[in-house]
Amino acid sequence: MTLQRKGYIARNTSLKPSGPIKRKKAKRKPPPTKTQLRRKCDILHGRIIRAQGYCSRCGRTQNLQRAHIFSRSYRAIEFDDRNCLCLDSACHVYFTHHPVEWEIWVQERIGLETYYELRAKAMTHVVPDYRELLAELTARCATL
Ligand SMILES: [Zn+2]
Repeated sequence: MTLQRKGYIARNTSLKPSGPIKRKKAKRKPPPTKTQLRRKCDILHGRIIRAQGYCSRCGRTQNLQRAHIFSRSYRAIEFDDRNCLCLDSACHVYFTHHPVEWEIWVQERIGLETYYELRAKAMTHVVPDYRELLAELTARCATL
């Protein structure tokens, strides 16, 4: 039995030097897209809002979520703290299915002045500078 058949020597191994090792040129990482930056902001802002530690409606401390008063599709106020509340998942689901109760509860909680300020800001449709916002949220998260 040859050494090759016993598995001591790999088959088809060339003993000839293969020449200089070719390295792939290191590709520079493209800058993050707006969507990627926004996603990172989203994770950090959720962490900040949930750091309250309890549901603003019932006080439970499990399954906390960030709830938006006005839809997050209004990018101008998506990451505005005033537009977010910490709720547990049960209360979040309840309010999602009871929008009138949500509106009344929120208005009582934050006051009509803030409520209308947020609404006006939403209507500006000004999208934040996500790079700047990310730096700000990162700094805030570091102090949690
Ligand atoms: Zn709750």
